[in-house]
Amino acid sequence: MKIYLDYAATTPVDAKVLEKMLPYFSQNFGNAMSVHSFGQEALEAIDEARAKAALFFRASASEIIFTSGATESNNLVVKGSLRSYYSAPRKAGEKPHIITTKFEHHCVLDACKFAEKDGLADVTFVAPNKDGLISVKDIKAAIKSNTILISVMYVNNEIGTVQPIAEIGKLLKKINVERAENKLPRISFHTDATQAINYFDCDVNELGVDLLSMSAHKIYGPKGIGLLYVRKGTLIKRVQDGGDQEFRLRAGTHNVPAIVGLGEAINMIKTPATQKKIIEITELRDYLIKRVLKEIPKSYLNGSLEKRSPNNANFRFDDVEGEGLILSLDLDGIAASTGSACSSGALDPSHVLLSLGLKHEQAHGSLRLTIGKYTTKKELDIVIDKIKEVVKRLRKISGNVLADFQ
Ligand code: PMP
Repeated sequence: MKIYLDYAATTPVDAKVLEKMLPYFSQNFGNAMSVHSFGQEALEAIDEARAKAALFFRASASEIIFTSGATESNNLVVKGSLRSYYSAPRKAGEKPHIITTKFEHHCVLDACKFAEKDGLADVTFVAPNKDGLISVKDIKAAIKSNTILISVMYVNNEIGTVQPIAEIGKLLKKINVERAENKLPRISFHTDATQAINYFDCDVNELGVDLLSMSAHKIYGPKGIGLLYVRKGTLIKRVQDGGDQEFRLRAGTHNVPAIVGLGEAINMIKTPATQKKIIEITELRDYLIKRVLKEIPKSYLNGSLEKRSPNNANFRFDDVEGEGLILSLDLDGIAASTGSACSSGALDPSHVLLSLGLKHEQAHGSLRLTIGKYTTKKELDIVIDKIKEVVKRLRKISGNVLADFQ
């Protein structure tokens, strides 16, 4: 029997979503930019999906830009904001400033680092506290006269901690009024909401965001499709040149079946059945955390317990390599993940865990379990027993057996 506990990495496509998508592969296959009936049929389907997304985010349909996913949306935010800045008149030598956090997804982090390296922007990377939370005060303190963009993720993908987006939004609303009076550039506020969509309020007005990114495959939709919400009037330019699709902000032929799938997946979130599921998922997560921390000595939870996504449990075990743990679990059919990213053949410890102030060896000993709507208590019982067994074995190998193992 296989057990999947990696729902933050991706989710299976819901059967209802798949059913909605299927006619758009071979039957209604038109290019939505074509004027003939095949094209118009495709366009209608896209418009319907756009309306569903707009309703979910409480936005206007013209503020929803379909992209290939959160990676593209996030790149568009950073690079498109800079492109807009550099295409407007400015004084010689003037450079914009961006604020983000140390534990963003690499697509935001690296886009900012490249902008800095290429001399296009100065960037402040705000650190979270040891519980994985960004402070509004730190964001405020980082603002400079030339700040044009603030990007803070809604829910961290590794440790599941929830950031104070609405509070930052409220603060920026006030600050932007003052900046307009002082003729300073308006600050756009972006949130990467990829891991938040399933569980948290994403009303863009409540959050006070100008830009919001997401990917459909985290919400039981297909891979390779996502969107960027762009508040009307936000200073951003497209970075991919080509056709006139997506209000000229994202060129390229529409992936119609995937867009239909995204619309259906997003539409399912607010249903009573899904809302009931969230309560069950939260209970399962609490059960998992409680048992692991109680039954495995020298185990810890990474990130705040209170300000945490309902589906995320991220543990740390002293004297255990996370990679060894994941591989052992996989041999038993259990899919989990670790914070470590395999880059250029070397296993680097997670930048998220390091940003909390953990030591390299602590960051290496972590395990992320993310649950979803198909997870059962029985599965968790099997997984907990297996983790206990594997941790004990790995500690024995490394000569760190703990006598008080229950
Ligand atoms: N941001 C966050 C917070 C994510 O969790 C992910 C996916 N792991 C991404 C961005 C990138 O999403 P995608 O790979 O679908 O483009």
